[in-house]
Amino acid sequence: MGDQLSRDISALKEARKTKDVIVMGELWDEATSVKHHKKKIILVLSAMRHFAEALKKDGWRVDYQKLDDENAVKSFSALVKRAVKKHRPATLVVTEPSERRVRQEVEAFKKTLSIDVDIRADDRFIASHDDFSQWAEGRKQLRMEYFYREMRRKTGLLMEGDKPTGGAWNYDKENRKPASADLFMPAPKAFKPDRITSDVIDLVQTKFADHFGDAEPFRYAVTRKEAVKALDHFISKALPRFGDFQDAMLTGERFLYHSALSAYINIGLLDPLEVCQRAENAYLSGDAPINAVEGFIRQIIGWREYVRGHYWRGGENYVRQNYFENRRKLPAFYWSGDTDMACMREAIEQTREDAYAHHIQRLMVTGLFAMLAGVEPYDVHEWYLIVYFDAFEWVEAPNVIGMSQYADGGALGSKPYAASGAYINRMSDYCKTCRYAVTKKSEEGACPFNALYWDFLARNEMKLKDNPRLSQMYRTWAKMEKGTKLSYRAHARATLEKLDAGERI
Ligand code: FAD
Ligand code: SF4
Repeated sequence: MGDQLSRDISALKEARKTKDVIVMGELWDEATSVKHHKKKIILVLSAMRHFAEALKKDGWRVDYQKLDDENAVKSFSALVKRAVKKHRPATLVVTEPSERRVRQEVEAFKKTLSIDVDIRADDRFIASHDDFSQWAEGRKQLRMEYFYREMRRKTGLLMEGDKPTGGAWNYDKENRKPASADLFMPAPKAFKPDRITSDVIDLVQTKFADHFGDAEPFRYAVTRKEAVKALDHFISKALPRFGDFQDAMLTGERFLYHSALSAYINIGLLDPLEVCQRAENAYLSGDAPINAVEGFIRQIIGWREYVRGHYWRGGENYVRQNYFENRRKLPAFYWSGDTDMACMREAIEQTREDAYAHHIQRLMVTGLFAMLAGVEPYDVHEWYLIVYFDAFEWVEAPNVIGMSQYADGGALGSKPYAASGAYINRMSDYCKTCRYAVTKKSEEGACPFNALYWDFLARNEMKLKDNPRLSQMYRTWAKMEKGTKLSYRAHARATLEKLDAGERI
């Protein structure tokens, strides 16, 4: 599958070059399960073609279907059925698919095929499904921080015996600084498209012309070799300052000190443990400080594993959760970037061009606005699944439904990530060029986030007021003069009415 492009994948572990056939297919149903960003389709298809070529060169028999082959089939089921007829195998060996929809399709092979079907665990993850269930069992609340400590113990990363290296599990106190434009920003390693990638770009421009996003320029890695170069580049150039500026945002600086490695990890070009070990080595050799290395490793063995656990634990209706009962449709400017809010415009435009925005832009700009404006979480989830190069439902959905929209009512995180414009102003330079004034509350020209923030808290008071992490906010709201409260709510209502009428804000 397109996100299993690793020689160490469990399905290939005992495979024999002389006897086994590796079946891979570019599938219309997968490329259009939602209208994925053009760059994401290019990344996955080009990486698949390169992987298949490399396997063939090494003497493997690969039965590969291109999307535009004559007689191309559209689904996994059709691909496998055809391959079974052609190769007459005794057994189909497959690594468990990462998302529920495909997993159900593959599970059905056990009934529909007349051969043995061996579905193997995806051991690229550090926590198996059982590990997560056992950890979660009997806990009243699941919190990433405690799960993460288990993962540190399990991997031995940044551990000295049973104690965390440096004496603390988490160095976030030293992180979260705003960035200034005079800092040197090391852009991620870029790669020139080769013949295979150029062919795929042409294919995508033709077949998926109506999908969101720009196909070119395309600069992402599509082979393991390139992805390792991107990793080397990140470790030496950006990791040392990753922690300090992890939450910062700057106009025109799309990556800051972030790695832009998520897609390579998700599709199998890089192994998550290998990436963490490289970061740990940078600390041990004195090339990167502990706050950066611990923060980076926590994202991978902590958050990445933790959200996967929630995705599978959340069951069939995970993506339909809607704790605040929000019903508003996603505003059209999420696709066009056509808004006067500088922060939203910046995040959306770079998303359209690069299929990338970093975590804080996803969480505290586009995600935050959708939650404050009461957009239906399923719509928000679909948008995120479409627009990012690293978007696969198992990781995207818990980040959107759980972390960013609080649509699971607090199963994943301890409070909604609600904030006013002041947060964005503190962590970015966006407000300086915005038509709105972040310092204005509810007067003409006030930052829309400000009134929407108080309106969100007021609207959802019954559901949130007992959350200890919001008690300070509710005390402030309670003390606020009635007139101020009313003007916030009126301003928020006017903004929401404009959104509903499709007017520009
Ligand atoms: P860095 O900041 O360099 O972080 C290093 C690595 O840590 C990432 O490459 C990634 O593998 C991992 N990581 C960091 N945070 C998370 C997290 N919250 N969950 C899982 N892994 C994490 N990540 C995806 O891979 N796919 C998605 O579809 C996705 N959707 C998201 C949607 C929302 C609303 C939010 C708030 C976050 C989402 N994330 C998603 C998590 C995170 O934002 C991205 O992994 C990160 O921005 C990718 O950029 P990077 O490689 O430069 O990350
Ligand atoms: Fe965003 Fe408000 Fe700042 Fe404008 S003023 S950039 S809308 S936070």
